[in-house]
Amino acid sequence: MQTIDQALDRLERSRFRSSFHLTKKERLYLEEKGMVVMRSHAEDFVRQKLAPADPVNDGKQTPMHGHPVFKAMHATACCCRGCLNKWYRVPLHRELTESEQNRIVNLLMAWLKRNM
Ligand SMILES: [Zn+2]
Repeated sequence: MQTIDQALDRLERSRFRSSFHLTKKERLYLEEKGMVVMRSHAEDFVRQKLAPADPVNDGKQTPMHGHPVFKAMHATACCCRGCLNKWYRVPLHRELTESEQNRIVNLLMAWLKRNM
């Protein structure tokens, strides 16, 4: 099982995944809300958009910007079940466990910290 740092390093070697950066507006929003609130938003998005066995509009459920967590989801390949399957071998068509959701949230938060 790869560590968060290993996952982030691998993502940085992908031209597409490393092309995502926080906008000034997203950075300000992140600073204003703080990491505790950001984590609760990340938990909500992961639960709603990724955790169901077959998420609604899978592949298109995560906007490209407008929230720092959306940006982190694309940058970490946690934007849809297809990308989770390709990058992390997460099986399709079954609900994500609490521990899988937690690992995703931890990865999103680590990316945000690296990219603040
Ligand atoms: Zn995706």
